[in-house]
Amino acid sequence: MDRRNFIKSGLFAAAVGAAMGPDAIAREANKRAGQENARDILNYNPAMQYRPMGRTGVNVSALGFGMLRLPMRNGHVDFDHTTPMVRRAIEGGVNYIDTGRVYMGGESEQAVGKALAGGWRDRVYVTSKMPWWEMESADDFEKFFDRSRRAIDTDIIDFYHIHMIMHRAWKDYVLPYKLIEQMEKLKAQGKIRFMGFSFHDSLQLFKRVVEYTPAWDFCLIQHNYLDYEYEAGVLGPKYAAANGMGVAVMKPVRTGFLANLPQSMKEALASTGIRKPDAEWALDYLWDIPEVSVAVSGMGSMEDVEENLKYAAKAKPNMLTPAEREALGAAVYAYRHAPGHIDCTGCYQCIPCPQNVAVGYIFAYVYNNYLLHRNKGRAMADYTVSMSPVQRGDPASSCIGCGECLAKCPQHLDIPSLLAKVKETMGK
Ligand code: SF4
Ligand code: SF4
Repeated sequence: MDRRNFIKSGLFAAAVGAAMGPDAIAREANKRAGQENARDILNYNPAMQYRPMGRTGVNVSALGFGMLRLPMRNGHVDFDHTTPMVRRAIEGGVNYIDTGRVYMGGESEQAVGKALAGGWRDRVYVTSKMPWWEMESADDFEKFFDRSRRAIDTDIIDFYHIHMIMHRAWKDYVLPYKLIEQMEKLKAQGKIRFMGFSFHDSLQLFKRVVEYTPAWDFCLIQHNYLDYEYEAGVLGPKYAAANGMGVAVMKPVRTGFLANLPQSMKEALASTGIRKPDAEWALDYLWDIPEVSVAVSGMGSMEDVEENLKYAAKAKPNMLTPAEREALGAAVYAYRHAPGHIDCTGCYQCIPCPQNVAVGYIFAYVYNNYLLHRNKGRAMADYTVSMSPVQRGDPASSCIGCGECLAKCPQHLDIPSLLAKVKETMGK
C-alpha cells in the first residue's frame, strides 16, 4: 500500500490514534468522516469557500488567519482582543490558523492556544513552524516542536513547517540536521498530520526543495500581483501543485503595501471603472489562481476580520473578469514605471552574496516601495525590523563592490551602483 492509500485507510488512523490525545482523536474522527460533500469539511460554513489542500485530502478555507499582525498592548500581544477576532473568523468559516514559533516574539502560539481553548481547537487546522536559525544541534528539532505544542496547548500540529527555507537553511540545517527525516518521524508518530515548509529564496531553489522528496504535503510561499517573479513567483504555486502539494500563500497584501496603495496605483485600478478596496484586489488576485489553496492573511483588528470574511465569500478559482485582469496589469505598470524604479524582479538569482547583502529584498521590497509612498519610517521598518542578517541578509552598506553578482542578474542591473544609491537614500 502506498503512503497516500495508507493515510486514507483506517490503518493510518489506528496507528495515529494510539499515539494521540483526546483533542487529536476527535479531529481524526472528523477527518475519517471523509470530505465527499461540503458538510464534511472541517468547520464548514456556506458563507466561506473551501479548496483542496493538495495531496493532504483535506479542504481548507480560502482565507487563513495569519497570526503575525495581532493587536498589541504594552509591548505584548493583546490576548483579550485577539481571542474574539480569531473566534469570529472561525464562526465565519475559517478553518486554517497559521502561526510560528517565533511569531510576535513567541507570543503568537500562546495567542492561538488561548483563542482555541474551550472546544474551538477542534474546528480548525493549526500550523506552526520550526525556526532552523535558532537550532544549535539536530536535537533541538524535537525540543522546539514540543515547545510549540505546549504553547498552542495541543497534542497534534496539523500543518508543520520548516520555517523559511532559503539557501543557508537548506545547506547548513535542513540537510545536515536531517530535518525532513525528523518531520517524517513526527508524522509517523501522529504528532503532526502534514509536513511542509515556508520559503524565501529563488525559484530554482524552490524547485530543488519540492523535488527533493515526495514526502512534502504542502508549502507556504510569498506571492502577490506585483511580484510575479519574486522568490518562487507566479510559477511557484503551479510547480508545487503539479507535484501534488497544497499551496498556502502568505503576505497577500505585501506587508500592507497592497492594502494602502499609492495614488498612481489607485488611479490605474480605478481607470478601468472597477472599484473595490485595495486589499480586496490583492486577495482576489490570489484566489483567482486555481493552485492556491489558502491565502493566509494577517489580521490586526476585528474590522480586518470582517472585511476579509466578506471578500472570501466569493473566493473562487478563475474568478477575475478580463476587465479586472486589465486593471491589475495597469496597477503593475504604474508600479514599475515610478520615477527611479529599479528594474529588479526579486528573483534572488544574485544571492548568496559573499557579503550577505539582501539584494533582491532591498531593491524589490524596500526601495521600490519607498519610491511610491515616500514614507521613510515605513521604509526603514521594512529595511530593519523585517530584515535580519540571518534570514534575509545585510543592508546595502555591506556591499564592497566586488561585482560577483553582476553576471548572475537576468535584468543586467548594475547592482553595486544601485546599492550605493539605496545607501545614500536610506542611510545604510
Ligand atoms: S557587488 Fe556587492 S552585492 Fe554584489 S556580490 Fe559583491 S558585495 Fe555582494
Ligand atoms: S538584482 Fe537582479 S538577480 Fe538580484 S534579485 Fe534583482 S533582478 Fe534578480
